[in-house]
Parts: sequence; C-alpha cells; structure tokens
Amino acid sequence: EHQKYIRNFSIVAHIDHGKSTLADRILEMTDTVAKRDMQNQLLDDMELERERGITIKLNAVELKYHAKDGHDYEFHLIDTPGHVDFSYEVSRSLAACEGAVLVVDAAQGVEAQTLANVYLAIDDDLEIVPVINKIDLPSARPDMVKKEVEDIIGIDADNAVLASAKKGIGIEDLLERIVEEVPAPTGDLDAPLKALVFDSVYDDYRGVVLSVRLEDGVVKPGDKIRLMNSGSEYEVTEVGVNSPHPVQREYLMAGDVGYITASIKDINQTRVGDTVTNANNPAEEALPGYREMEPMVYSGLYPTDNAKFTDLRESLEKLKLNDAALEFEPESSQALGFGFRCGFLGMLHMDVVQERLEREFNLDLITTAPSVTYHFFTTDGNRKDVENPSEMPDASEIKSVEEPYVNATVMVPNDYVGAVMELCQSRRGQFDTMEYIDDYRVNIMYSIPLSEIIFDFFDKLKSTTRGYASLDYELGDYKPSDLVKIDILLNGEKVDALSFISHRQFSASRARIIVEKLKKIIPRQNFEIPVQAAIGAKVIARTNIKAYRKDVTAHLYGGDRTRRMKLLEKQKAGKKRMKAVGKVDIPQAAFMAVLQTD
Ligand code: GDP
Ligand code: MG
Repeated sequence: EHQKYIRNFSIVAHIDHGKSTLADRILEMTDTVAKRDMQNQLLDDMELERERGITIKLNAVELKYHAKDGHDYEFHLIDTPGHVDFSYEVSRSLAACEGAVLVVDAAQGVEAQTLANVYLAIDDDLEIVPVINKIDLPSARPDMVKKEVEDIIGIDADNAVLASAKKGIGIEDLLERIVEEVPAPTGDLDAPLKALVFDSVYDDYRGVVLSVRLEDGVVKPGDKIRLMNSGSEYEVTEVGVNSPHPVQREYLMAGDVGYITASIKDINQTRVGDTVTNANNPAEEALPGYREMEPMVYSGLYPTDNAKFTDLRESLEKLKLNDAALEFEPESSQALGFGFRCGFLGMLHMDVVQERLEREFNLDLITTAPSVTYHFFTTDGNRKDVENPSEMPDASEIKSVEEPYVNATVMVPNDYVGAVMELCQSRRGQFDTMEYIDDYRVNIMYSIPLSEIIFDFFDKLKSTTRGYASLDYELGDYKPSDLVKIDILLNGEKVDALSFISHRQFSASRARIIVEKLKKIIPRQNFEIPVQAAIGAKVIARTNIKAYRKDVTAHLYGGDRTRRMKLLEKQKAGKKRMKAVGKVDIPQAAFMAVLQTD
C-alpha cells in the first residue's frame, strides 16, 4: 500500500557544507521546480535568509521521485539550519523523519555542528545517509573525509554518496540511496489521528498554519480536531503539502508531512510539540513532543515609539508561533519605557528576532545589551535570578554570586592548539580535556563562562585559527563568581538600560572602553554631556561629549542641494533607531557598546 512509497528525511550538516544547495538539486532533479523558476537556495525563502545566505528556518517540501525500481515515491524533505543558535529547528525536524541525509564538505571535513547535528539524528534512531559534498573543489579530499566520518562519528561511510551539489553530481545516486535505506513510515491508518506539530506560522487570513507529521490516522477538511495539550478544538478548513508552494490535498494520512489550517485565531492555544487528534475519537496519549529550550541570553526589546507597545506584544506572540525558542515577558525601564525582556538561544537568534519584528511586523525597536542569567544569593537566604542588570540586588544585600558556564568543544588542527588555549584562558576558561581526533586534529574541551563565549568569542576564535576552528557548546553548571554592576550616567543621570554586569577583575578596563565608545556613538548636542561609569556611588571612568558648534549642513551652501539632501537623509535614517532619554538622544549602537571588549 501507499505508505511503502513514502520517505521522510531531513538534511543536516555544519553551516555552509551545502545543505540548501543540495536541496536545490533535488528539487530540480525531481522536477518539483521548473528550471526557469529555479534560484539558488530556493528553500531559503525568507528575505533575511537570502540576504545573509544562511538558513534560519526549517523548511519541509514534498516531491515525487520515479525510482529505478519503477515505482513512484513521495519524498518529504526538510532542509535545516546549521548554526548552533538554530539547533532547535533541527531537532524538531528530525522528529518528523525516519532518515537524515548527513552532508559533509569534502574540503572541510567533519566540523563541530556536523557532530552536534548527527548526534541529534542518532539519538532519534534515524537512518543516516552520509553524503560527501563539494567533490568538485580542488581541495576536496573525499577519502580522508570518509575516514573522518567513520572515525569521529562512528557510522559506516564506505559507500557514502560522493556529490557536488553545485555541479549536480551524485544527486540521483543519493535519491536511490534514500529509497533503499530510509525506512518507510509505519503508522496505523485506521487508528485515531495522531499528528505532531513541528512548526507553525501565523497567517492573517487563514489563522495559524500548523506544520504536522502524521503518525497515525487520517485528517481532512471538515474534521473536528483537538490539540491534546491545550485542549482546544477546531474544524479543519484545509490540509495540504508544500511543493514548495502550498498545494491543497483532499486528506493527509499516517506517514505524511504537511500542513493543517483550522481558522485558529487564538495564538496562545498553539504550541509546537503538541499533538493533533480527532475531537470525537481522540488518541489515548499525546506524542512526547519536545523539550522546552532554555534561553542562553536575554535582552530588552523596546519600541522606539512608546505607543507601539501593544503592537510589539501582538507581534511577539505571532512571531513565537514561527520561532518556538523565543521567550518574552513584559518589563519596564526608566529610560526606555515599556517593553519586553526576551530570551534567545544566542546572538544570531537575537539579531534575527529583531530583524524579523522590524520587517515582518513593521516595528522600530531598540534592543538593550544582552545578558545571561546570574544567580544572586542574598543575605536573607534567598536566591534571586537576574537576567536584567538593572535588577541586580544592592551590593550590601549580596552574599554570593554564581554565573552560568558552558561546556565548549573546539575542534581545531594541531597547529592552533596553543592559540585556542590562550584565547580560552583569557576568557576565564577552565581547561577540561583534549582529545586527538586523528593525526592532525584535536578536540579541546573547556568550561567557559557563558557571558564570555556568547558575544564575540566565535569571531575571535575564527580569526586566531584562520577559520579552521569550529565550536560547539552546551549549557553546563553554575559556578561562583565575583561580579559587579556598572552603571552608566549621561548628563549626570543614570540610564538603567545601559547598566551591565561585569567580572570585578575587568570592571575598570571595560568601564574605560565603554565610556570612550559612547562618546563616539552618541551624537553631539548643543550642550556638553558628561559620560560616567560608576559602581554604586563610585565613578570609575568618565569623559565628555563636547557640544556641537553649528549645523552639520551649514557649510554646504545652497548650490549643492543634492549633497545637502543626502546628508539630511542620512541623518534622518540614523535618527530612526534612536531613543530620547532625558535631554540626550541615544542611538541603538550605544546599547550594544557594552559588549565591546577592545
Ligand atoms: P548550507 O549552509 O549547508 O545550507 O550551505 P549552502 O547550500 O547555503 O551552501 C554554502 C556555500 O557552499 C554556497 O556558497 C554554495 O554555493 C557552496 N556549495 C554548495 N555545494 C557546493 C558544491 O558541491 N561545490 C562547491 N564548490 N560549492 C558548493
Ligand atoms: Mg542552508
């Protein structure tokens, strides 16, 4: 019967190893997309993904493949992101599949997220189909990479598919391997409906669109469904698949990956990981769902226009449907007014959320500097968890402090071991172990404060190893620390949104760097602005922003109209992301200045 000819698989890999390009070739080869409609990384359809050249969201498509055994197969392919901040997208995708295509760059070999992602797939008991990609590159070394896959990951790579997604080599080979090796879904068509919600998105017209993988049963328009965890019930209005554009279907059945709409307008009732079942004939147990992600960093998001607070709330709720790792709760700041404290999986995630809110929901936002969650043990015997520096208890009330550490693994060629260790050490890292992977590469394990790794560590790591190192990390334990809060005063007034927490050892040097940065970033006004950094009442660094003398455009006399206009335009654009605090205009960049370490 029909299920025998279904194959569900995800494509996983380290970032840039060619997942999305491979998906392109598969779409092409199976005539899912006509040649004239083809474009590079077609599934990266979000504007932001195209601009940055990275995959941010998982993307599920259905395609038909006529195999050499003479049968027509239905493939559900899920392209996934490779960046560590989006591994939640990967793990949710894998839960909808029986197989994973593991792409490894033939020149780069196995890297940190190759391992992290393939282990997720192995944990889910998926069949792994290894692909050595980019064999067209002069620096390709497919045999060595095969050996790496075997030695490091421990899966058989002897008959790994050798491919070039760019040149279209090895694609048919891969499709045949998927047919042969990825198991067909099993699942009972006659049992009550049981479908895993692995993603969702809000659509103004159709309401919430649920991306689902059916484990059992059938679903069709008109059916009464229930979301098992939330308990809410709806009538199905449409079911279908993406191919890659939405195509309506008469029904979806056990083994299928597709979408369901049911005029769901109440956003808070839907959550990824929930199970869809029949309302009249419900399944006994919900599917296990997903573990909740714990944010790594928090920052404040504030509308530049205070009147947009409610808009921001609604936008965050809608965005959360499509970004399950996003967390938020209301907070307020003396300087910035009402906004939200948001939790993110990393800096790239934070950046993407701000960009998506601004583009997709038409908001202008100020983001405050990100902070990790610190534990403050106070003299009254309590523990206060602080993710907003301005809420740090008074020094006199603090008994002890703990900060989160991560277990970091740096994969690097031998030659760079010294450089990597020096960097980790300078970030207060504690050496754990070192393992030789093969003759020329090592895994270096460190325990490093999360606050030291999350901001610019990766860039520094890349530059000290000429791009050869790759990094993976997971949250570890909390450990004792010696922290102080540094306040910033502008024009004598404390700006709460600029406060930050620093290790005591680095407080003086960081305070100096930051007041100098602020001096450069904050535009001059018609009066002098003192900039001070203070711990409690004690000022530890200071400088002044001089008053400006005249209109910047004044020296461009009337004749040079276009230049003058351009300059005014530029000033206006710069103004956009600016917040007036007291008499001082503070641009977005000022809030991020506290992240600068040199
Ligand atoms: P992803 O991050 O894994 O999705 O990788 P992409 O598909 O976005 O590809 C990353 C880069 O590698 C792009 O510049 C691609 O053009 C390039 N690329 C992908 N496959 C190949 C290949 O087979 N050969 C070569 N030379 N480049 C490739
Ligand atoms: Mg990609």
